[in-house]
Amino acid sequence: MALIVQKYGGSSVGTTEKIRAIANKIKGYRDRGDDVVVVVSAMGGETDRLQGLADEIGSPLPREMDMLLSTGEQVTIALLTMGLSAAGVDACSFTGWQVPIRTDDAHGKARIDSIDAEHLKTELGRGRVVVVAGFQGVNEANDITTLGRGGSDTTAVALAASLKADECQIFTDVDGVYTTDPRVVPGARRLEKITFEEMLEMASLGSKVLQIRAVEFAGKYGVPLRVLSTFDDGPGTLISLEEDVEEPIISGIAFTKDEAQLTVLGVPDRPGIAYSLLGPIGEANIEVDMILQNVSGDPSSDYSATDFTFTVHRRDFDRAKGLLEQAASELGAREVAGNTSIAKVSLVGVGMRSHANVAARMFKTLSEENINIRMISTTEIKISIVIEAKYLELAVRALHETFDLDAEPEKVDSELTPLSEQD
Ligand code: ASP
Ligand code: MG
Repeated sequence: MALIVQKYGGSSVGTTEKIRAIANKIKGYRDRGDDVVVVVSAMGGETDRLQGLADEIGSPLPREMDMLLSTGEQVTIALLTMGLSAAGVDACSFTGWQVPIRTDDAHGKARIDSIDAEHLKTELGRGRVVVVAGFQGVNEANDITTLGRGGSDTTAVALAASLKADECQIFTDVDGVYTTDPRVVPGARRLEKITFEEMLEMASLGSKVLQIRAVEFAGKYGVPLRVLSTFDDGPGTLISLEEDVEEPIISGIAFTKDEAQLTVLGVPDRPGIAYSLLGPIGEANIEVDMILQNVSGDPSSDYSATDFTFTVHRRDFDRAKGLLEQAASELGAREVAGNTSIAKVSLVGVGMRSHANVAARMFKTLSEENINIRMISTTEIKISIVIEAKYLELAVRALHETFDLDAEPEKVDSELTPLSEQD
């Protein structure tokens, strides 16, 4: 018998039929003897609808926004609890403040401070399924708060941590975490397992299956997290602390097209230039990703100049360029150049730690495809490159093959070999 926390997202509770189907699914776990805590999101599209209503009125007071947005989940916990009852399962629903889930008072992006799980434990002890509203909590003043979009994942993980659950299962409309986006590489494979570290790299790079904060939280408290499909049975992908010795070198390939590159050419090379160029960018709250500075020019000359390059999110490009032009002219740099048609591709894998030559294999593959690498950066478990955006799909496919990430071909049972292929 296990204690599991399950979370069902908006697309899983989008209609009353789906809610009934989930109730039956939960019944299956109960019948096996598991204790189940269920966290639900609002019905798909509901949080956006509520946001839209507030936009029509204007004056989005933060306290009232959370009062409003938290209602979506209050609807689904009640409906699911009724669905469970109709399926013959004893259940009981809780809003965030009823648990209570205590948060700070940052309305719209509150952080969970503590959870008092006594109430929930009592209900579980009575043999009930406990259904908790995701995405919401209560601050010290007893005002309702919300955790930021996608926050139900975090609610589920936090409850699992506080209840010391055996597993936190995130049910969604995909059946797990893939080696890369299957729309780009049709042979992309579902991963059986991945570590938190790897998942964070994959998630922040565009494999948006889980709220990043939820993954961080689960990693910090060592809560085993499983992503699996609401609609198909299957084991999904387990995200845990465990590193497998058999682990392949690379677990996945993440990529993003949302970046842009800025280069300051001919910067007089002297102490403080990196700060002069990036200071204003940081002050404007623009996030910088990769940073690259060339070695200085001719060391025998009195005056040497260098080039300085970094990447930002594409939506920040114009703003960053304006700030940079000003800083560059103050420094006496020659020119600011930019490129908005770049893409970043990252190989991710804890196996890299114990295997040399991953970078060399990556660069060889790209050179064979005649793809020019513009920037490179590495961490212990990741190698990222920046290339022309038009080569993105080619690069991802080629690398997927080089690192043996393609799905195993279906096993052919020799006894079933079609007649035409025999002899
Ligand atoms: N309903 C909230 C949202 O749409 C929270 C969630 O779904 O996790 O962002
Ligand atoms: Mg969601």
